[in-house]
Amino acid sequence: MRIFNCDACGHPVFFDSVQCVHCGAALAFVPELLRVAALRTAPDGSAGAQWTLLTDKAASAPRYKLCGHRGPVGQCNFSLPASDPQTLCVSCRQTHWLPDLSTPDNALRWTKIEAAKRQLFYTLSKLGLGPEHRQEQPRFELLADLPGQAPVLTGHANGTITLNVAEADDAERARRRMALHEPYRTLIGHLRHESGHFFWEPLVLRAGRIEDFRTLFGDERLDYGQALEHYYRRDRSDGSWRDSFISAYATAHPWEDWAETWAHYLHMVDLLETAASYSTSIRLPASDGQHPALHMHDPFERGASRDFNAMLEQWVPLTLLANSLNRSLGHEDAYPFATSAGAVRKLQFVHDMVQAGR
Ligand SMILES: [Zn+2]
Ligand SMILES: [Zn+2]
Ligand SMILES: [Zn+2]
Repeated sequence: MRIFNCDACGHPVFFDSVQCVHCGAALAFVPELLRVAALRTAPDGSAGAQWTLLTDKAASAPRYKLCGHRGPVGQCNFSLPASDPQTLCVSCRQTHWLPDLSTPDNALRWTKIEAAKRQLFYTLSKLGLGPEHRQEQPRFELLADLPGQAPVLTGHANGTITLNVAEADDAERARRRMALHEPYRTLIGHLRHESGHFFWEPLVLRAGRIEDFRTLFGDERLDYGQALEHYYRRDRSDGSWRDSFISAYATAHPWEDWAETWAHYLHMVDLLETAASYSTSIRLPASDGQHPALHMHDPFERGASRDFNAMLEQWVPLTLLANSLNRSLGHEDAYPFATSAGAVRKLQFVHDMVQAGR
């Protein structure tokens, strides 16, 4: 996620900022513009209910209102057009079921999940897959385990993404990460993965690319339940899967392979955008000192080439840098994966499907 600047004073502000820490300007993310903007009360606005962009002084400047989930619980900083009859922003309204928010734990979990969901929303919009581009959007159900009932399984079915809100607890997520021998488990990772299941149907199946998909990922008509059961029983310690898969879990079923590859593609897009917004350039150390400096580019910036090979060329050194920075601080690798040639071919396929679906 890139950084932004305050329209009032130029100080850096973040995607989730609600106020500039430097000058105090009220801030909101404007989905139509895909940016954080400083707001001012519209000249005839009723007690702050309507806002305009600080930078738009015209009398006819578009009016905005703040998402109904702005505030201590929810903490949504998205805005919506003042004329919109809805009270919730485009991201919050995609959540159809919430856990019982009367328990403080659930309120905190929900707030964390919505923050990750807004990050996903941003990337998908940037890729041209957001609600302004296509009507068909995922619905979300954020559910908590209830005593005496079957545990809530995170997953996707018929356009609905279900997330067990326990995944928002750091301790619980770390426990599951170790129990399942996964090197990486994050909220945004879950959401990116599940969004891959959602977009498989429109971008691959209905786009007439199923034969190309099967050539690379295998036949998805394989019994899904059996495949998963087999995956959890199998010994994966030899690591030979690395030649063709982005992660061990990708070996479970062609659909999981696609969703894992999709998630990694979204990691790639977001990390490159972040690095580009800080004007990062990297020169890998070499014994002969000959490596040229690589400048990080935002692949989905307006006018960018979106050349997959250029993305990949920047991605590898960038993950090395991110991992090295993490190790300096005593953290584990930020990106604990190595991208093999087989995994790269699948990433390229995801890139091509995204480009075609724009
Ligand atoms: Zn400011
Ligand atoms: Zn919202
Ligand atoms: Zn999955």
